[in-house]
Amino acid sequence: MNFIINEILLGIIAVAMTIIAIKITFSFNINEYLKRKDERLHLKIKNNCTHVNIGWLENGDIAVQSCFYSPSGISSYTCQKCGMQVDYLNEDDEKRRVKYFLNNPKILFKKEKKFKKLIKKAGIV
Ligand SMILES: [Zn+2]
Repeated sequence: MNFIINEILLGIIAVAMTIIAIKITFSFNINEYLKRKDERLHLKIKNNCTHVNIGWLENGDIAVQSCFYSPSGISSYTCQKCGMQVDYLNEDDEKRRVKYFLNNPKILFKKEKKFKKLIKKAGIV
């Protein structure tokens, strides 16, 4: 009789331990998944960032300015909007990029809209 009770108790302990193990694995995977999802989202944000500030001139014209800045003492450039870092910034390429957006405001606003949607999704704003 005693032997059967011991057997049952051992069985219950084994089942309980299995449940705990499954729970730990499950929550661990969820955290990993959320972290990966977060990383993917941040990468997506950087990919969809225009890296330019949009402003308006007094006459109603659109003004576009590069978001990259280089803090003194640091050789790399950082985008103020998405935080992307680049080691080298070609000024001519940057001017061309700004000019491209100035000439194609539709593309700029479309990208900007997607960017805002993504940062909202990431909970940044
Ligand atoms: Zn950016």
